[in-house]
Amino acid sequence: MKHETIRACSIWRALEVVGDVPVLLILERAFLGTNRFEAFVNETGVPRSVVSDRLKKLVAEDCLVKKPGPNLRRSRYHLTEKGRNLFPFALAMLGWQHRWEAGQRGFTVQLVHTGCGQTVEPRCSCKSCSRDIDPREVDWKPGPGLVQVLPDFSARRRPTKAVTARRGNAALVDTVIGLYGDRWSTLIVRAMFSGFHRFDQIQKDTQMAPNTLSGRIAELIEAGILHANQYCDLPPRYEYRLTEKGRGLYPVVLSLLQWGDRYYADAKGPPLLLSHEPCGASLQMVMTCDNCGDPLELDAVTYRTA
Ligand SMILES: [Zn+2]
Ligand SMILES: [Zn+2]
Repeated sequence: MKHETIRACSIWRALEVVGDVPVLLILERAFLGTNRFEAFVNETGVPRSVVSDRLKKLVAEDCLVKKPGPNLRRSRYHLTEKGRNLFPFALAMLGWQHRWEAGQRGFTVQLVHTGCGQTVEPRCSCKSCSRDIDPREVDWKPGPGLVQVLPDFSARRRPTKAVTARRGNAALVDTVIGLYGDRWSTLIVRAMFSGFHRFDQIQKDTQMAPNTLSGRIAELIEAGILHANQYCDLPPRYEYRLTEKGRGLYPVVLSLLQWGDRYYADAKGPPLLLSHEPCGASLQMVMTCDNCGDPLELDAVTYRTA
């Protein structure tokens, strides 16, 4: 019997819903306008039974709503308000992918902000002072809703290559989807942003089995997201820091946290309180247009594929 608990936060709760590769692939297509079952299967390359299962789950979680299509035959899946509110998260993933993994595949998608008519790289800004958010300028404090939960990974296995491989469709956000589709990796990144850098601290924060933790750390180093610093010679000990590429994941973590706070925080309030040091306000992020500075709303963004 395991009795270890981890610090619950809204990211954890949000990951219960979106911390899954097929779910992220389906949401990505939903934001690009896909709404039919067959199209989700063809465009994601995910097996039909898995698509069917995840669509049901997204409907049950109130992220998608199933409606009869024209002539009442083929159902359509539409994003609900809760689903649409994952748009900043999708933008943050896309922005990261553009910045750090551009050119690694033959297919790219460009966002166009219809508000100003320009192609846009989404920026993560503070709603209060409009400055870009730097993770080193954000203060994390335990909030009233901070509780310990028993992690349950029983129902979740790592996605197999067969599920993650795309058939003929190049991916928009593969690396980051792979990362956020694995909740352990996300918890390690969260530990970094919470100020835990040494193996035993990260292990305590995430309650991961040491061999699982070493394995995921090695993968994150391989992906260029973490680097190791030796801080003790005898015995040799290391601490782990985010690289610049790893720090670039902050908007992704933050948008997920905000979404989780909105839909999953308990009555006592949010589990974590974030404040923006440059302006002192409690932190609210918005994804904004790097040309005109306006918030990027789902209906004001179109896509161009190259
Ligand atoms: Zn601010
Ligand atoms: Zn604009």
